[in-house]
Amino acid sequence: MNKIEHIGIAVKDAEASKKVFDTLLNRQAYKEEPVESEGVNTVFYELGESKLELLAATHEGSAIAKYLEKNREGIHHMAVGVDDIHAEMKRLRAEGFVFINEEPKRGADNKLIAFIHPKSANGILLELCQDID
Ligand code: ZN
Repeated sequence: MNKIEHIGIAVKDAEASKKVFDTLLNRQAYKEEPVESEGVNTVFYELGESKLELLAATHEGSAIAKYLEKNREGIHHMAVGVDDIHAEMKRLRAEGFVFINEEPKRGADNKLIAFIHPKSANGILLELCQDID
């Protein structure tokens, strides 16, 4: 693991939250990208080496919609950058960590991603992500 790649923030209304974060961070988002498989729209802000990722549901059945039924808007997950996601998943599985997805999948912002279940990671939903070049 080489850095905190981004912090994922669950939001109800991407447009309203963009106004908040534009002002808060004093910059514009550099990318907006829907991820069909997850039922989310993502909005990315650069912050030094790391990023903030706003996540808004695109339909009621999406994981973010379900999350927001039970939780307030706010920090949803932490993502760490890895050089080799397959090797890192193998290492962590051997140590007993449980992944939500069995295989890495394509995420937003040109990444291969995999989520570790919060029950394995001290309550944190942890995303591993590797750049796709
Ligand atoms: Zn993420």
